[in-house]
Amino acid sequence: CGIFGIYGHPEAANLTYLGLYALQHRGQEACGIVSSDGRSLYTHRSMGLVADVFGNQEIFGNLPGESAIGHVRYSTTGDSVLKNVQPIKVDYSRGSIAIAHNGNLVNAQYIKDELEAWGSIFQTTMDTEVILHLLATSKHSSLEDRIIDALGRIKGAYCLLFLTETRMVAARDPHGFRPLCLGKLGDAWVVASESCALDLIEAEFVREIEPGEIVVITKDGLTSHFPHKKIEPAPCIFEFVYFARPDSYIFGKNVYQVRKDFGRQLCREHRIDADIVIPVPDSGVPAALGYAQEAGIPFELGLIRNHYVGRTFIEPQQSIRHFGVKIKLNPVREVLKGKRVVVIDDSIVRGTTSRKIVKMVRNAGASEVHVRISSPPTSYPCYYGIDTPTRKELISSSHTIEEIRKYITADSLGYLSEEGLLQAVGAGSNPFCKACFSGGYPITFPRLMAEPQLD
Ligand code: 5GP
Ligand code: SF4
Ligand code: MG
Repeated sequence: CGIFGIYGHPEAANLTYLGLYALQHRGQEACGIVSSDGRSLYTHRSMGLVADVFGNQEIFGNLPGESAIGHVRYSTTGDSVLKNVQPIKVDYSRGSIAIAHNGNLVNAQYIKDELEAWGSIFQTTMDTEVILHLLATSKHSSLEDRIIDALGRIKGAYCLLFLTETRMVAARDPHGFRPLCLGKLGDAWVVASESCALDLIEAEFVREIEPGEIVVITKDGLTSHFPHKKIEPAPCIFEFVYFARPDSYIFGKNVYQVRKDFGRQLCREHRIDADIVIPVPDSGVPAALGYAQEAGIPFELGLIRNHYVGRTFIEPQQSIRHFGVKIKLNPVREVLKGKRVVVIDDSIVRGTTSRKIVKMVRNAGASEVHVRISSPPTSYPCYYGIDTPTRKELISSSHTIEEIRKYITADSLGYLSEEGLLQAVGAGSNPFCKACFSGGYPITFPRLMAEPQLD
């Protein structure tokens, strides 16, 4: 998911709309905005893309005020239905509060069972709702303390934005799984999942919100709190591989540069004689450029992408994903005919995309098709906010690289090594989460740890 918030600007809802537009790649299922005029909160949410949900200017007349938060959704927990669209807004004894969440809690069910036993009734099937319940039932009186209290109970990945009548609060979990940055537009404060959203509204990038940090923004300014015990951070390395936009700066680095370095390193590890290097657009482009430059092989566009189709993987139905590849990509015969081709993609999940792409490139006349993947084999599901399928469906959880090569019918297949990935990202002493590749989950939680063996 993607989150965006702005505090202290007369065009708050409109700017949030633009911010969400820039974050659309982080979720295409649904979106919403909640604004505040200092007295009340106003909501507009729906299934669909940002442009469709907020395409009508009249909507902004119903989202008044100088602060707003917004969300683009990509479902990792909860069904893909309207009641699960964010931000979620509730009214309780102390007023109204809205919340937008990027990430995934690992102990939500546990807390939910506990709260239900005490009489709480949940309106959604989202993990995010438990945070609101914890907040509403906290014994503390100030909003900050209630939030700190609630966050002390939850485990997992979260970047959160809260909006009340008078405040905006941003929080990032102590592992810092997902990115979150702080910006300034004139006197207004801006918070966004990725810096590309700040660029669009011409806000200045101030800094990233730190793992474990809570930032409280009121009319008197900004205060920062670190209430949690400090632990080793584990930002998601897959944000660099696939999820974030290449023009963003996350975890201290520019995504494009890192992706290109993945490609360079991939070439050092799996060089091959070939005539052209082509990316699987868009996710494979920077890595393919890096590979081509390192190899000294021309970079070509052998596959053209239809830009009106979303990220296939993100659509939750298997049947849609199945057709997705053809809807999305078409080969350029003139580029591929008679050529030995290196095809670069960022990851293989189920293997269905790669298999179709290899066939497509071969049918277009390529004499050899070599597949190179700019990350290690994805063998383990993510429990921290990326919608990877169950272990069973991940082709590399049960197949060797040679078996995968055969399945996708490539002449050769090479993955970036885990060491190469870390080296390219400049991990050094900075740890990252790379559990989907290594299985080393940074948060051990009983229910979570049982699952990798079960499915
Ligand atoms: P496959 O057919 O192997 O399941 O899909 C691989 C393709 O899915 C790659 O091109 C990759 O860019 C894309 N992809 C889209 N969304 C995701 C995601 O959330 N996780 C992963 N691992 N790959 C994704
Ligand atoms: Fe990111 Fe993979 Fe860790 Fe999930 S398991 S947070 S996708 S690195
Ligand atoms: Mg892709």
